[in-house]
Amino acid sequence: MMVKAVQKLPKKHKFFILGFSSLMLGLTLIPVEQATASKDNNTKVLEIGKRYNLELEIVKQTPKTQTSPVKITVEQPKVTEVTSELTSAVNFKNFKVKKGDNLAIIFKRAGFSAKTLHKLISADKNTKKLTQIHPGETLSFAKNANGELSQLKYILNRTDTLLINLNIQGKYQSKIQSKTIEKRTKSSSGLITSNFWNAGVAAGLNDKQIMNLADIFGWDIDFANDIRKNDQFTLIYETLFIEGDYIGSGQVLAAEFINQGEKYNAILHTDGNFYTAQGRSMKKSFLRAPVNFKYISSSFNSRRKHPVTGRVKAHRGIDYAAPTGTPVVSSGDGKVIQSGRSRFNGNYVFIQHRSKYVTKYLHLHKRKVKKGQKVKQGQLIGTVGATGQVTGAHLHYEFLVNGVHRNPRTVKLPKSQSLPKSELAKFKPIANDYLVKLNRNRELQLSMVNL
Ligand SMILES: [Zn+2]
Repeated sequence: MMVKAVQKLPKKHKFFILGFSSLMLGLTLIPVEQATASKDNNTKVLEIGKRYNLELEIVKQTPKTQTSPVKITVEQPKVTEVTSELTSAVNFKNFKVKKGDNLAIIFKRAGFSAKTLHKLISADKNTKKLTQIHPGETLSFAKNANGELSQLKYILNRTDTLLINLNIQGKYQSKIQSKTIEKRTKSSSGLITSNFWNAGVAAGLNDKQIMNLADIFGWDIDFANDIRKNDQFTLIYETLFIEGDYIGSGQVLAAEFINQGEKYNAILHTDGNFYTAQGRSMKKSFLRAPVNFKYISSSFNSRRKHPVTGRVKAHRGIDYAAPTGTPVVSSGDGKVIQSGRSRFNGNYVFIQHRSKYVTKYLHLHKRKVKKGQKVKQGQLIGTVGATGQVTGAHLHYEFLVNGVHRNPRTVKLPKSQSLPKSELAKFKPIANDYLVKLNRNRELQLSMVNL
């Protein structure tokens, strides 16, 4: 059905849609945030139970990142709900919190005394939440026949509303009414043409999801240096709705990344961690890159020139060209064995991991750790700089096994932990199911590109 809708669109639109690769492939047809009115804007009264045709419309957003993301919005006709609100014939009056307001001012404006306010606030733990009001929020008051404050309503957040009632004993009691968040699954797929970030945006992912994806695969793939054109990713994730309105994206449930022809899969287990389909933890002893890819300026640099000699040269480390001040993290748990400064290395930090591994970080602008200090994987140890014998700011990273320089990409590293057998039995069928879905969604994606 989605494919048909796409075919009917003019060519230009088709292009945008293909660019926007998260066409809810195979899974659900979901209204997306920023719902816009469908073309027929003269909203007629809609009948319950009747089917209405949905219009596909493309909404160009104002660019907030490098590319201008394109969103497809499918609006479902809203049917006004006629519920039995009449049963509780409470007449609420709304008061908006303005700048400089406090509860006393608002209560006075609403026609209630400071005594009432005090009684209400001291009623219980929930009612104290009223003291955290912010400008722009709304307090709703209702009076009873005696003119007393009988009900108060305060929206705490998207899901929770604080309701305060005056009971028959003349005391205030409160409850928090929560709306349920409905979770739906959605799939997005992307093909990398310029860099990972742009591909993520084109796939309809938000910043958090793009970073999340890089974190999930950050032990296997060096997102700063090793992403190439035609790499692909597919993910299945939750989207969250309240009363049919999209409120945001939730957990990534499963993901796939094809990097330089090698396929990696990650599936979320009930323990909150990601595992390969075989049940091995995605977490490993060493991160692939000690620098976050988002700071790396160039897109693809398979043959990087040496920053000093200017020649392409296989040297004993990996260089990460990033601006001065970019955070550098320890690629694994360990202990700082050197933290100093020399003429060639500039500011440097060496870290020992277990007995046989050492990682070295050179040309740092600032060192953030001291000799003898224990560090965790991902912990900040310094910042990228241009100290020592260099011509430009970059991190020079070395990986040594038993004192010998090795390529961290190809060196055999300790295997990651596997799920225990009992867990594995539960995990495997779910994982296999996701693998099938990931495969199907990737293929669907490719077939759309070849339309
Ligand atoms: Zn280097």
